[in-house]
Amino acid sequence: MKLDTSPIAAIATAPGRGGIGVVRASGKSLAFLVDALFPGVTLAPRHATYIPFKAADGDILDEGLALYFRGPHSYTGEDVLELQGHGGPVVLQMLLARVLEAGAASGLRLAEPGEFTRRAFLNDKLDLAQAEAVADLIDASTEAAAKSASQSLSGAFSQVVHTLVDGTINLRMLVEATLDFPEEEIDFLEKSNARGQLAGIIESLENVFRQAAQGALLREGLNVVLVGQPNVGKSSLLNALAGAEVAIVTPIAGTTRDKVSETIQIEGIPLNIIDTAGIRAVSEEIDVVERIGIERTWGEVGKADVILHLLDANLGPSAADEAIVAAFPPNVPVVRIWNKIDLSGHKPSKDESSDAVHLYLSAHEKLGIDLLRAELLRIAGWQQTGESLYLARERHLIALRAAREHLELARQHAMQDDQLLDLFAEELRLAQDRLSSITGQFTPDDLLGVIFSRFCIGK
Ligand code: GDP
Ligand code: ZN
Repeated sequence: MKLDTSPIAAIATAPGRGGIGVVRASGKSLAFLVDALFPGVTLAPRHATYIPFKAADGDILDEGLALYFRGPHSYTGEDVLELQGHGGPVVLQMLLARVLEAGAASGLRLAEPGEFTRRAFLNDKLDLAQAEAVADLIDASTEAAAKSASQSLSGAFSQVVHTLVDGTINLRMLVEATLDFPEEEIDFLEKSNARGQLAGIIESLENVFRQAAQGALLREGLNVVLVGQPNVGKSSLLNALAGAEVAIVTPIAGTTRDKVSETIQIEGIPLNIIDTAGIRAVSEEIDVVERIGIERTWGEVGKADVILHLLDANLGPSAADEAIVAAFPPNVPVVRIWNKIDLSGHKPSKDESSDAVHLYLSAHEKLGIDLLRAELLRIAGWQQTGESLYLARERHLIALRAAREHLELARQHAMQDDQLLDLFAEELRLAQDRLSSITGQFTPDDLLGVIFSRFCIGK
């Protein structure tokens, strides 16, 4: 991403047709643009002015509202001009072209993805975690995710991170002051209650981490893969979970050739459920299409957070099932689902063995589906605490985890009899850097580039 500060413009509303569409421009000063677009008109800042949008030759392109925000009182912290016209792709393209043309002489150019929000960050209107929350709010796939993104956008997450940073800085100041007077080091940790302060910071950090990890679930969801022999009821189970006919259910073995995936939500957590082609031993007589399906299945299994292994409760595991189980990646939780209990006479129930949780249910009769939903939530690590969650990103969790490790190391140094104060101080510094990277006080430029380039244009 370029770092030049020339004025920028883009269509800010989503592609497609809508009642209203917005072209947005931002620049250190946009007086030149207002003059060029609306000669002789003064736009009062923060007032909506109903006005025709005209081409250079005076033809009317559209009419709508012009809104002028004078920096720093704007989204980006610069001057911002918003033109709200009719929300058609052609009319908005014409309006954008007109804005670019009117500003060309002053260096106005098309904005890059995320550039408005990046400017807001650079001008201290938002910190990095808030800027990320803008994108997360726009991308939220469930109501719970949207609420948590708003929570982060409002600065609640940044606030708790700042509190952790401040606590760490205070402790560092204490320690570093002592380092300058070595004769006082001896009792420093006792006198200043540094250990107690450190314990308090670690405890707060663990709370923040828990809320962030739960929030990350709302953002990332869970990849669930359905595997099992043809005809055991994988498609039926997907339908039962989704509550709609999404997969093809037929009594002919091997119908599901291609994977069918469906995103459902359980308590606001998005679950991406993939129904796979029935896995058969490759030695059997199978055609090319089915072979490809089987290969894909294994590709999906490799990306799974949970594997649902379906079996027929009336038949028990076959040799092919043994082969499937042997090929599962280690460390991915497996739920063994014994389906068709309406025929076998089992009751809907849950059982645990050393290697897997066993569930008895009927996909077709929708018996025991609630047990499966509860089990998926348990595996996801979902706890219903009612506390507010921060829609954290993987990046934030990694930083929080690293900060916790450095604070733990600091604690170990503080436990030593000879009190390795310089090492203690160094771990605090590293913890502080990691925490500061969340809000962007300490974030390398290349990371900023990556974060903002994932936005869409106009944001
Ligand atoms: P898949 O090949 O594993 O995807 O299996 P399907 O979902 O296509 O189901 C195969 C057949 O088993 C269909 O005729 C389903 O109606 C039937 N079936 C699925 N679940 C149950 C169940 O719980 N009980 C009974 N009796 N039949 C089921
Ligand atoms: Zn199927």
